[in-house]
Amino acid sequence: MKQVLILLILSIFIFAQTKTGNNQMTEKEHKSEKEWQTCLTTEEYAILREKETERPFTGKYYTYKENGTYVCAACGNELFSSKTKYDSGSGWPSFYDAIAEGKINYKEDNSLGTARIEIQCAKCNSHLGHVFDDGPKPTGKRYCINSVSLDFEKAK
Ligand code: FE
Repeated sequence: MKQVLILLILSIFIFAQTKTGNNQMTEKEHKSEKEWQTCLTTEEYAILREKETERPFTGKYYTYKENGTYVCAACGNELFSSKTKYDSGSGWPSFYDAIAEGKINYKEDNSLGTARIEIQCAKCNSHLGHVFDDGPKPTGKRYCINSVSLDFEKAK
């Protein structure tokens, strides 16, 4: 009886460890471009998968001020807190920090004849925007993001 009990406790312990381990990993979302084409709108596909940019001052989140979390429009990965959103005057939603480390991938982008840092969702590699060094304190960063690349989850 005692051995069964020990075995049971051990199993629960191992199960709990496995669960924690999974939660800490950045789970990847892999879809073919054909699959993305079917689950995204034409506008979303052009920006998220083909790195196009929405026209400034037109996006749904440019002047949005609700409290909550901005997530990837393609896969739901949490990206930015409304607490770090500010008006940069650029015409695109701007944040001075990512919600957590490991949520965003940073890539060199030398298109348009300038050296920029492109940012992508770390989970599904979708294009979000660019990050610049002219942001406010405390980071000095300006994450310049397409509204189309974002969805919003209101704080409860
Ligand atoms: Fe994503």
